[in-house]
Amino acid sequence: METRSTCAYCGVGCGVIIEHDDTRITGVRGDPDHPANRGRLCTKGSTLHLTARGSTRLEQPRLREHRDGERRDVDWDSALSVAADRLADIIREHGPESVAFYVSGQLLTEDYYVFNKLVRTVVGTNQIDTNSRLCMSSAVSGYKRSLGSDCVPGCYDDIDHADLLFIAGANPAWAHPVLYRRIEAARAANPGLRTIVVDPRRTDTARDADLHLQILPGTDIALFLGMLHVLIWEGFIDRRFIDGHTEGFEVLRERVRDFTPAVAAGLCGITPAQLVEAAQAFGRARAVTSLWCQGLNQSSHGTDANCALLNLHLATGQIGRPGAGPLSLTGQPNAMGGREVGAMATLLTGHRDLARSEDREAVARFWGVDSVPDKPGLPAVELFDAMHEGRIKAVWIACTNPAQSLPDQLKVEAALRKAEFVVVQEAFADAETAAFADLLLPAATWGEKSGTVTNSERCISRVRPAVPPPGAARADWWIATSFARALGRALGREDDIQRLFPWQSEAEVYAEHAASTQGRDLDIAGLSHQRLDQEGSLQWPVPDPRSKGTARLFTDLRFAHADGRARFVDTPHRMPAERVDARHPFSLNTGRLRDQWHGMTRTGTVGSLFQHTPEPAVHVHPADLARRRLASGDIVSLRSRRGELRVQVVASDEQAPGQLYMPMHWGRRSLAGGGANRLVAGHVDPVSRQPEFKHTAVRLERLELPWSLYALLEGDAAQLRPRLQPFLGSFDWASVVLVSGHSLQGAAPREAVVFRARAALAPDPALIESLAAALGLSESRPEADGKEPMLRYVDAGKGVVKRARFDGGRLVALLLAGESAAAAWIQPQWASGDLLGPLRRRLFAPSAQAPASLVPASRMVCLCHGVSESQIRDACGADQTLEGLQERLKCGTSCGSCMPELRRLLAESAPAA
Ligand code: SF4
Repeated sequence: METRSTCAYCGVGCGVIIEHDDTRITGVRGDPDHPANRGRLCTKGSTLHLTARGSTRLEQPRLREHRDGERRDVDWDSALSVAADRLADIIREHGPESVAFYVSGQLLTEDYYVFNKLVRTVVGTNQIDTNSRLCMSSAVSGYKRSLGSDCVPGCYDDIDHADLLFIAGANPAWAHPVLYRRIEAARAANPGLRTIVVDPRRTDTARDADLHLQILPGTDIALFLGMLHVLIWEGFIDRRFIDGHTEGFEVLRERVRDFTPAVAAGLCGITPAQLVEAAQAFGRARAVTSLWCQGLNQSSHGTDANCALLNLHLATGQIGRPGAGPLSLTGQPNAMGGREVGAMATLLTGHRDLARSEDREAVARFWGVDSVPDKPGLPAVELFDAMHEGRIKAVWIACTNPAQSLPDQLKVEAALRKAEFVVVQEAFADAETAAFADLLLPAATWGEKSGTVTNSERCISRVRPAVPPPGAARADWWIATSFARALGRALGREDDIQRLFPWQSEAEVYAEHAASTQGRDLDIAGLSHQRLDQEGSLQWPVPDPRSKGTARLFTDLRFAHADGRARFVDTPHRMPAERVDARHPFSLNTGRLRDQWHGMTRTGTVGSLFQHTPEPAVHVHPADLARRRLASGDIVSLRSRRGELRVQVVASDEQAPGQLYMPMHWGRRSLAGGGANRLVAGHVDPVSRQPEFKHTAVRLERLELPWSLYALLEGDAAQLRPRLQPFLGSFDWASVVLVSGHSLQGAAPREAVVFRARAALAPDPALIESLAAALGLSESRPEADGKEPMLRYVDAGKGVVKRARFDGGRLVALLLAGESAAAAWIQPQWASGDLLGPLRRRLFAPSAQAPASLVPASRMVCLCHGVSESQIRDACGADQTLEGLQERLKCGTSCGSCMPELRRLLAESAPAA
């Protein structure tokens, strides 16, 4: 059977067709009729069905009576009644401001709407914020200041109409892959289409660009000011547009007077010629589409960076036409939906502003309550700060993982420990935040839920269930509604609670949300679930049943400020909040991997998705490595002013010397001590309150950890990983990851969990013995049912322990403690599927050198067809064209996520060829 739905990951919002048998999801493919992807999916979307296997799912509410006590299963009535009583007590004792809700851009719009209404009407506070604060809030505040409303003026079709794509602080080749396929197609169809990429890193998107402006971290405003200087002084501005449709140009003109190309380029670390080239390309283009994401947003001056880019569009009249306009990219699948329902500390439903009394009154009238609270709630970082200070006593966290994703992790963890009552509404049991929950509520997830999401181009799509949720898991809107009713009763509000929360289905919630937007800029009063089911996805506004949606905003050049005119915003150049200095000389940047999503609760359960980037590592420029006598694979200590992280280094010239890069996905489930967010500060933009994830001052020091351990255990890796996770903290450095033995199209995927550790000294033998037991390699149980006897080698003098178990010649469990050189060749050999049985002797030999015939280790570039980097490099010599490479190896012929890398590998081989 097949069910149409929407991908659970990024803001591109691709349509998917879920294949299932009513009880199990068996496959997924792109929906050819969906306007966002026209049948395409990336590596993440095309493996969604593999994440629905359920071994890490929460299936029953679980409650612990005491902080140190064990959790026990409870039924929903008990769970909701305990939650309602605890929160009601805290509200009565400490006031409504002492209770907070922290929700997510991965919730559906219906879920979001219910939470928003619950917090404002039942709890009586605005203490609700969302992880979209970490993602899009600078874009929201930038749009509101410049254009007058929270909007995204452009649409994906603009890519086909533009003759310049200006991509700033975004790597869509990895983070929005299907949209990047569209950019590739537009470039192929239109040789006149130029792309300029602004990014401190030479990403795959940057490598593909006609011009890459590799600016210093946080200097984007200086770049945009310098470009505006050139646009003005070389006569590229659109005076008629400026005079007819904007305010504030003259002030900005004064600001940019001093930002000559030499001055601005000097601040940015690029050449004046590069800056002038970019400005002239912007000025000469017939139609410019700008795309940006976290590089601009996750900054202590993110709002100004957004406004500075919007200033360029306003100065040149590049808005409101096909191909001309700003098109910010949302990170999450429904960041836009959260903005629509106002599930943020300073917003109200229907893009209303909490600070405006007429907006508060309109919402109160619509909901039929006396008033909505006027005191703004706390944005994400400040919310957890308040919890740390004891001002917030209870927190309800839904569909997000702040113990992995917020900055200054040690402080966040301390805050969660300090809270009197923590509710975590979550689908996955191993989300880092779940460990802090007093009450864990099992939520339904992708493939099991019904509702809507809004993607980066304002396109609203249906999300539909294919199978029922496991066990007692429930839809998020149902949990929020049931809790609202329970809390209403606990607070003595029986009279109006049923009237406020009357819904029997998510379609009824959506109908109320749609009605609440009537007359607003995002008016979707003409939409319903039924209409979306009949007509497919539509872009807001859709004000009446005849409207077919709106591709572009501001086509009449009337902007959303009261006078209809857009605003030039005076944006001073500012550097990142935290300075590098002699003690912390490196700038650490964080970002995304091609095949992983957020905290990896979902993608991190699929072994094949680790093939492109197998292990947590910090990327260091080769010159910085050489200066410190380091090599890829060495373990270093990274220290910021907040804490220390121990991590492997990998050589990469994508970032300039003096800069480091670490993907944000890795957390405590993979790496002892957690991930990069342990180091990141809670510095926020003064307007959007979005934290600065893109720059942290750190120092890097070599660690001498000569003792090493390697373990591999074959099986359902996501299920096996929790057996090894408890050992992460027992060594000076340790990581645990999944590995896969087959391509995505393999008939019988094999997975394993791999544990690596390093230490300054050999650890206690008892620790090694207990790790061996977790691997099924216990000294006391050398025989195992149906498997060959365990093989052993021990050199007590040197502290070396080696054990392995084979099954029909296949290696299924391995422990190499004290001497693990063989790991370098065993793992690729295991992954290749070849039998390791004949190599037993060599496995345990003291030197453990790789046999010459064995498969060399090489990372997988094309997951769909299982093509590794070494295979591609070998083939590049013979096939000098991309088409030839594709013909020979089939790489890049399915999802296309590897295409930028294929082009790069081909280009790198060109001189030799
Ligand atoms: Fe999902 Fe990939 Fe499409 Fe994003 S680009 S919505 S992750 S399939």
